[in-house]
Amino acid sequence: MDNKIIHIDMDAFYVSVEIRDNPELANKPVAVGGKSSTRGVLSTCNYIARSYGVHSAMPTHLAFLKCPELIILSGRMKSYKQVSEHLHRIFKRYTTIVEGVSLDEAYLDVSSCKLFEGSATLIAQDIRKTIFNELSLTASAGIAPLKYLAKIASDLNKPNGQYVIPPCNVITFINEMPLSKISGVGKVSFEKLLHYGFEYGKDIRASSETLLTQQFGRLGRSLWLKCQGIDTKTVEVNRIRKSIGVERTFSSDIKEIDKLLYVLNNKLIPELKKRAGNYLKLIHNVSVKIKYSDFQLTTKTCLFSEFDTNIFEMMLIKVLESRRGKSVRLVGIQLGLKESNKNTQLSLF
Ligand SMILES: [Mg+2]
Repeated sequence: MDNKIIHIDMDAFYVSVEIRDNPELANKPVAVGGKSSTRGVLSTCNYIARSYGVHSAMPTHLAFLKCPELIILSGRMKSYKQVSEHLHRIFKRYTTIVEGVSLDEAYLDVSSCKLFEGSATLIAQDIRKTIFNELSLTASAGIAPLKYLAKIASDLNKPNGQYVIPPCNVITFINEMPLSKISGVGKVSFEKLLHYGFEYGKDIRASSETLLTQQFGRLGRSLWLKCQGIDTKTVEVNRIRKSIGVERTFSSDIKEIDKLLYVLNNKLIPELKKRAGNYLKLIHNVSVKIKYSDFQLTTKTCLFSEFDTNIFEMMLIKVLESRRGKSVRLVGIQLGLKESNKNTQLSLF
């Protein structure tokens, strides 16, 4: 049985909410973003503004050059969040397997949805109709048996449209698909791919996994799989993240404290900081974990709300005080996160 995945993407989301709430803005070029002409950047703009060449992520001063009458609003995050919550309530009427990727974008796995005799095309149509009836906003949808294709498809009949890639058309679609459409293939990667003669899915399909992995590493392998019609990613219900941690198991056990501190400061801490990214503001506690050569495990946790390099070092030294000469097999550090951070996480994307 093929999976049925729907990717829903609201059209010009922030701006559409603004225009819905201020109808006098309709028929005018409107954007939401930073108003400062020196540092401002647009986050979204409507289709009228786009017809002037204005687009999201464009610096405000440049947008004004392209469209001097552009109206820029600073945005009301609270309203957008409310709309997003309403959207999720709608999605839940069709399936429990919903993965929000941002306030206005979500994947739905409707493989087991019994409505409309299981037709994902009709389910998507109904979801979009319901969104319009209840929120007066338009959404676009992509329907495909693979998650990454659903995402590509939702863009093809935008705004206020949908595109279906039925299982029997997957390979045909992939063959003609420019690789730049795949999320994860940025401008730089695409140029590199082009340089080696890979432009469309069919070029990847004509190559080999070994060659692609050699030339492009992980990206190469991932493209190979995707173009074979395999997506290793499934729709994952958002869970509240409780912790983020990194650890190292050594190839041979370490006894010297200097070496352990070196690994801590030069490997683990920078790695954890990088992975923590947007979660740095949500730290609730910090932990250090040690596994000794005899596999005994010790963990120490401190309530601490900042990312402080020194605290890990102090905690590690403290834990090691009670090791009775044993050498260390594994060191790990972890950030415990505040509870109910789900909404914050969504808005941070
Ligand atoms: Mg959108």
